[in-house]
Amino acid sequence: MKTAMLMRAPRELRATNRHSSAFILPPWSVDMRIADDAMPIGADLRGQLRHNEPMARHVSWRAGGVVDRAYMPADLADLQEFLRGLPAAEPVHFVGLGSNLLVRDGGLRGTVIFTHWALKQFRVETRGGEIYAEAGVASPKVARFAALHDLAGAEFLAGIPGTVGGALAMNAGCYGGETWNIVARVRTIDRRGQLQERTPAHYQIDYRTVVLKAEGERRNEEWFVAANFLLPRGSGDESRRKIKELLERRIATQPLNQPNAGSVFRNPKGDYAARLIETCGLKGHAIGGAVISPKHANFIVNRDGARAADIEALIELARRAVKEKFGIELECEVKIIGEATGERGKA
Ligand SMILES: Cc1cc2nc3c(=O)[nH]c(=O)nc-3n(C[C@H](O)[C@H](O)[C@H](O)COP(=O)(O)OP(=O)(O)OC[C@H]3O[C@@H](n4cnc5c(N)ncnc54)[C@H](O)[C@@H]3O)c2cc1C
Repeated sequence: MKTAMLMRAPRELRATNRHSSAFILPPWSVDMRIADDAMPIGADLRGQLRHNEPMARHVSWRAGGVVDRAYMPADLADLQEFLRGLPAAEPVHFVGLGSNLLVRDGGLRGTVIFTHWALKQFRVETRGGEIYAEAGVASPKVARFAALHDLAGAEFLAGIPGTVGGALAMNAGCYGGETWNIVARVRTIDRRGQLQERTPAHYQIDYRTVVLKAEGERRNEEWFVAANFLLPRGSGDESRRKIKELLERRIATQPLNQPNAGSVFRNPKGDYAARLIETCGLKGHAIGGAVISPKHANFIVNRDGARAADIEALIELARRAVKEKFGIELECEVKIIGEATGERGKA
């Protein structure tokens, strides 16, 4: 390949919703399929490549710019092959369901790999008590699958509308549960397409952050392709009860009917970002089409065709207001990537 392959023209696309989870999966968890007449992008590759793909289709905020290239691998072997052939200078971004992501309006340089396109296998391991799930599996599916097999401790994942890969990258958690508390080991892939087995000991794991230890250059060049979750025996009925309760609490307290990305800021030690923002009087404050949710002040919703810049301006406004009133520096939980409009081409 492969540089030449990256230059091919985009194909016509159509959308199909292939998620049928009974749990609350957001309306934006839609898989995009290639039209039947789409050609494979190369002899060895079986996935699909798109150019100038609008990331607003793939992030829960439903806003933001395009990525130069997007690759939907056919399976893990195909992903390995694709990564092996990428030019060394090509920036690579792994994206799950985009439920914690904002891509600036000027777009994203490089290639996005969408894991939920193909890395979707999950099963109970023969040794029992372990669930193997690939990075593209939706986290709520893992919660439901664990309950089905009378395994306890994964219920919290039902409330996190991303993929296993995203949950690993973010150490996602809620209601006392945290992803890495139930991880036995993970499988990763690097830029050369090589797979690695790693354990939690290989990572520095904190509240909503996970960093590969002492790997120098490789730190940002290795991504999750699967995890084994180790779960104690429990009662499926009890797990389903917990899941139902957790989802009801979310519906009551979060603006789930409007595009959002969950909590925008991490909670500072001993306090809540939502309380601080609300005390600054910012609930309901709007910039462009984006609004600080009147229901939950740590949520910014896309009320009406918001640009990524509107959302980012609200984030900055909330951060400044909290700093001025309380002297507390709020840290973003959502990942903001890409270039602002007009930045493209600047040295
Ligand atoms: C309504 C709502 C409620 C939410 N509630 C919670 C909550 O209670 N607790 C919580 O922690 N989060 C919550 N979130 C945020 C979000 O769902 C989680 O962070 C989730 O784990 C992100 O998964 P994703 O697949 O959408 O990741 P994305 O948004 O696609 O990506 C997030 C980050 O992970 C990286 N990433 C994705 N996949 C991989 C991979 N395979 N390998 C390496 N890096 C990868 C991306 O590059 C990016 O930096 C909520 C979001 C919404 C919209």
